[in-house]
Amino acid sequence: MKSKGTLFIFSAPSGAGKDTVLAEVLKQNDNLKLSISTITREMREGEVEGEKYNFISKEEFEKMLVNKELLEFNEYCGNYYGTPKAPVEKWLNDGYDVILEIDVNGAFKVKSKMPDAVMIFMLPPSVEALKHRLEKRGTESQEVVEKRLKQAKKEIEFASEYDYIFVNDDLDDAVFDLIAIIRANALLNENMQEHLGKVIDDAKSCNW
Ligand code: 5GP
Repeated sequence: MKSKGTLFIFSAPSGAGKDTVLAEVLKQNDNLKLSISTITREMREGEVEGEKYNFISKEEFEKMLVNKELLEFNEYCGNYYGTPKAPVEKWLNDGYDVILEIDVNGAFKVKSKMPDAVMIFMLPPSVEALKHRLEKRGTESQEVVEKRLKQAKKEIEFASEYDYIFVNDDLDDAVFDLIAIIRANALLNENMQEHLGKVIDDAKSCNW
């Protein structure tokens, strides 16, 4: 209903199940585009180049920084993660909603540049569940798991500054919640102004 799309910032601590929830939401919403981050960490088993991330070297990342190609970036557990600016701007201008799956640090950097962005935080049902999921996933060494858990504790404290918070306890409920947030945002008065204006103009031009 708007000519320009909305930017959603989606954060959750590592192990909370962001990818699974988001994959399902993207399947159900053709107007929502996922920003593909550029990162320097090693590819995990099962990850595909260009699907969620572009995997590049530290040198290539630094070049992107110098060329101001990133909307934001952050160092997370020893690796760089950044959001390429051009695709996000193009999609928003083309009327698509865009979702950035980024950490808390990056989230606030984007919000300060783009204050209309909607911030959404997904919580785990408990910190114990988070620990269990991260350990069970088995994609990281014990040392990295510990770093990520420490980071998760810090990130959760910032959840209260987000616009929306929901919990990933049951997958279907979490998917429903994220879809509901995106839908409710589209129906905010300020986002309906264009359509409302057209209907009011139509009504005025009617001779009944
Ligand atoms: P992971 O290594 O588990 O894929 O991601 C680690 C953290 O980095 C997650 O919290 C994820 O949301 C965040 N992340 C992914 N892409 C970006 C990005 O482009 N910028 C920032 N700031 N964080 C990101």
